[in-house]
Amino acid sequence: MRSIRSCLCLATLIAQVACDAVVDGKLSFYTSSWENWDENTARWSAYEAPTFSAVFKPETEAELSQGIEYLAKYNIPYLATKPGGHGNVPTLGNYQNVVQINLDNFRHAVMNSDHSITIGGGAKMVDLIPTLHRAGREMTVGSFPCVGVHGVMLGGGMGRLMGRYGLISDALLQAKVALWNGTIVEASEKVNPDLFWGLRGAGHNFGVVLESTYKTWPDEGGLHYNADMVFTDDSLDGVVNTYREIVQDGLDPSLFLILGYMYDADAKKPLLIMNVVYAHNEEKGRRVAGRFASSPKGTAEPITRISFKESNMNFSELGSGKAVPGVCDVNLKNTLYTASTPSLFETGAMKAVYESFGSFVRAHPGANRSILLFEAADGKAVDALPHDYSAYAHRGMMTTNAIIQATWDEDEDGIVAEAANAWGKGARDLLAKPEVSGYDKLHAYVNYANRDEPLAALYGYDEKRQRRLTALKQKYDPHGCFNAYRPLPLDMSGWELPTASGAPQRTRDEL
Ligand SMILES: Cc1cc2nc3c(=O)[nH]c(=O)nc-3n(C[C@H](O)[C@H](O)[C@H](O)COP(=O)(O)OP(=O)(O)OC[C@H]3O[C@@H](n4cnc5c(N)ncnc54)[C@H](O)[C@@H]3O)c2cc1C
Repeated sequence: MRSIRSCLCLATLIAQVACDAVVDGKLSFYTSSWENWDENTARWSAYEAPTFSAVFKPETEAELSQGIEYLAKYNIPYLATKPGGHGNVPTLGNYQNVVQINLDNFRHAVMNSDHSITIGGGAKMVDLIPTLHRAGREMTVGSFPCVGVHGVMLGGGMGRLMGRYGLISDALLQAKVALWNGTIVEASEKVNPDLFWGLRGAGHNFGVVLESTYKTWPDEGGLHYNADMVFTDDSLDGVVNTYREIVQDGLDPSLFLILGYMYDADAKKPLLIMNVVYAHNEEKGRRVAGRFASSPKGTAEPITRISFKESNMNFSELGSGKAVPGVCDVNLKNTLYTASTPSLFETGAMKAVYESFGSFVRAHPGANRSILLFEAADGKAVDALPHDYSAYAHRGMMTTNAIIQATWDEDEDGIVAEAANAWGKGARDLLAKPEVSGYDKLHAYVNYANRDEPLAALYGYDEKRQRRLTALKQKYDPHGCFNAYRPLPLDMSGWELPTASGAPQRTRDEL
């Protein structure tokens, strides 16, 4: 049986629901006996992940709207996602046995005559990036092909070209959104501007985006200088302080830097890596990469570069994720923490985190795919827009983001998960200290967040902004149907809660 298209089958799926409620008996629901169940329900991370009692895989917008209307009518919790969804905030794990609204039939990416691009709600970076490239256009996109465009954009949307073009959401021109009751509305500067504002930074909260349209830019021939380097352990001071000098000198808008800690399982110690990408200018890129070349003997903070690969990549290759193989593998277990700074974190803390990373993985070798990235981009394009331009709350703040990602596979008794969270949280807390980050409070990008950050750290400490967000939640999601992803509170007291709730408003038990 491929699809559940009859009342009878649907009744076994959602036993409490009256059969005659199925709209024309034509909704594409699937149960776990479906031959394609596993590939459709796989997640990038299997840790604290949502689980599904059924998959609703609409083929048309009308069917999607009818399905949501149906689920709403019977108070059935649901989550919009796609195969291999990369969302990792642990509140997603509060969604157990919900209906998956599978957006895999909405992966179109179409260039328009005005050079804007329209993409479907289920599109991944791999759908967006080559389409732009073929048209000789570019925009800020995520760095890996497997990640969903909308999950990224709705939190703001960071990427290698953000120094030039701002956030992915800053390029959004309009979106088509199915609300909690199935009603489809447009959101743009002119139509439902309040929803348009909220979608760009707190957008996981309001509905299912069926389609969205973005401004794009000419790719100027489209080549991007890329350098990948590996250093010895004792280069840590030299590399970190060179990185700091580059950031403090003022990053060029075309430059994107990643300093990474990976783990060398053979040598049983961390690896220090650096990725330099400079858009459209090989010479300038080389100059930056050259600052990380091995230094002469006797240098106070020596750098020993043991591997150096440079190339020029087109826009499509740049987004193909080749730089970090295996990043798109599904069904591993991951927990993420994050902190940010207007410059670079203090060197001693970055060294301490390098040490703690090594200790964590040595004690739990199954976690040897863990990774810690310090990503830096110039903030001028993001800051050029007014602070209240969109719901993204961190303009002018996140020059460098730390992405602390513990990854493991086997863990029958939960010991690795406990250690992974202890390490990740400890590293985040150290990096977020005022004397290390330069901020008196934590500022965290929602798409890299965990569950313990105050909501204000994700969506803004300003009470006026919080009131605006809560009013939007009340207006567009009054029953909390879209509460899976670090949800906004429906009343102001929710901003005071110490940790995230994120439970679906209604559970199957309550039906
Ligand atoms: C390997 C990797 C690389 C990453 N790279 C980047 C990066 O370059 N830049 C960056 O900013 N972030 C990046 N992230 C973080 C990323 O933004 C989040 O993990 C994001 O949630 C992934 O979205 P998704 O659509 O793949 O996931 P999903 O799990 O499908 O969705 C995540 C959330 O978004 C909601 N959602 C998804 N699609 C829609 C839609 N069409 N309408 C309404 N809601 C929707 C879901 O309901 C869910 O709540 C990366 C994460 C990983 C794991």
